[in-house]
Amino acid sequence: MRIVVLSGGVGGARFVRGLVDVADPAQVTVVGNVGDDLEVLGVHVSPDLDSILYALADLNDDERGWGRAHETWNALTTVGELGGESWFRLGDRDLGLHLVRTQALQRGEPLSVVTARLTKSLGLETRLIPATDDRLRTWITTPAGEFTFQEWFVARGHRDEVDALRFEGADTATPAPGVLEAMESADLLLVAPSNPYVSIAPILALPKVREALARRRVPCVAVSPLIGGRAVKGPADRMLARLAGGTSPAHVAGCYSGLIDALVVDEADAGALDTLGDVRPIITRTLMSDGDARRRLAEAALGAVPA
Ligand code: GDP
Ligand code: CA
Repeated sequence: MRIVVLSGGVGGARFVRGLVDVADPAQVTVVGNVGDDLEVLGVHVSPDLDSILYALADLNDDERGWGRAHETWNALTTVGELGGESWFRLGDRDLGLHLVRTQALQRGEPLSVVTARLTKSLGLETRLIPATDDRLRTWITTPAGEFTFQEWFVARGHRDEVDALRFEGADTATPAPGVLEAMESADLLLVAPSNPYVSIAPILALPKVREALARRRVPCVAVSPLIGGRAVKGPADRMLARLAGGTSPAHVAGCYSGLIDALVVDEADAGALDTLGDVRPIITRTLMSDGDARRRLAEAALGAVPA
């Protein structure tokens, strides 16, 4: 079964890790968000792609929730001591990847080509494709002004309420090679339990990706990132409350209107399903606390496909 997953960083990466344990990893294509990408200290960082790479290669730090395990911070400490830009946390091990990527990009290689090579170097069978090779950047409008995604998320600790989002470059960006082909030949489309507004929306802001999803002939199943109406981590619940008017499964499904056939929701949210409309609820435990929990969640999403 060929599967395409639209994914953000950490929540998406955890889910994809479970998915490749229960499905053939070589048949899984992950389309990753690049709206969070940034250039800092001269390197190009793709935080969401890297979260997925690290999770798939078992290099991720499960406890911290992002970045690599056994990380050290010597380079960043030096940057700080020298008065350099140290607000974006880059570990030593992580930096190695950014150096390789940045050099390849500077040689003129598209991000998708670099990413494919990184995937191969890490010995992964799963295909990871950035949503686009073009420049696409998420901007956040708040009462305090408009910020790039990382200024808002990291530098300001996502404390500002979000009034609007803008995906710079999305209108004219084209999906990276392989994205549409994978979507069109898939037997199942999945939307990971990522933040709908800042992780999935930038992917759906690519007109061709949205169209491909809207005219799908196979099921599309999204997994809710909320448990009991609360985000497991991060601002998804606050954003839904403010931008969609609530944090029920229907509010999550509303972010994917016309694009999904089923929504995997947590048992804790099973009481609030009456307004889901055409979207079929799949109720299970969705906290990915360990490998077993991740696999069970992936199986629940896969169960949506008629055998
Ligand atoms: P980011 O790009 O690193 O911010 O990560 P994502 O957007 O992919 O994932 C963030 C979302 O993952 C948050 O809204 C969390 O609520 C959600 N999330 C994290 N862990 C879990 C989990 O175990 N279960 C579910 N259902 N959602 C989770
Ligand atoms: Ca992200």
